Amino acid sequence: MTTTSAEARKRRRELYEKEIGDWTDDEVIEVLTERYAPTDVPPCRVCGGELSIQAVGGGQPTQYAHQVMKPEGGVDWDHYKESAWEDRRQGGDEAVIDLIRRFKGRE
Ligand SMILES: [Zn+2]
Repeated sequence: MTTTSAEARKRRRELYEKEIGDWTDDEVIEVLTERYAPTDVPPCRVCGGELSIQAVGGGQPTQYAHQVMKPEGGVDWDHYKESAWEDRRQGGDEAVIDLIRRFKGRE
């Protein structure tokens, strides 16, 4: 089954028009899974390499960047700045995902 993002948005809007108490178990699970799933960190937008965490905590979004060395030595700061990406979801929550998995196992 494929769902376009427009369909997904419409479904989500309809869902939020209802009281959370009226959501089905599946609807609650769907919303929580989306909210707490681990973040997919994208590849470096400059070279496709793997980003690494540069700053985390303080209630701020986790910052990622790709740190590479210039051929002549030293960090390539242009590459670093250009590749910067932040995780506004703050990495999800493994405990919530595990709780969902256990809950599903009990149904
Ligand atoms: Zn890169």
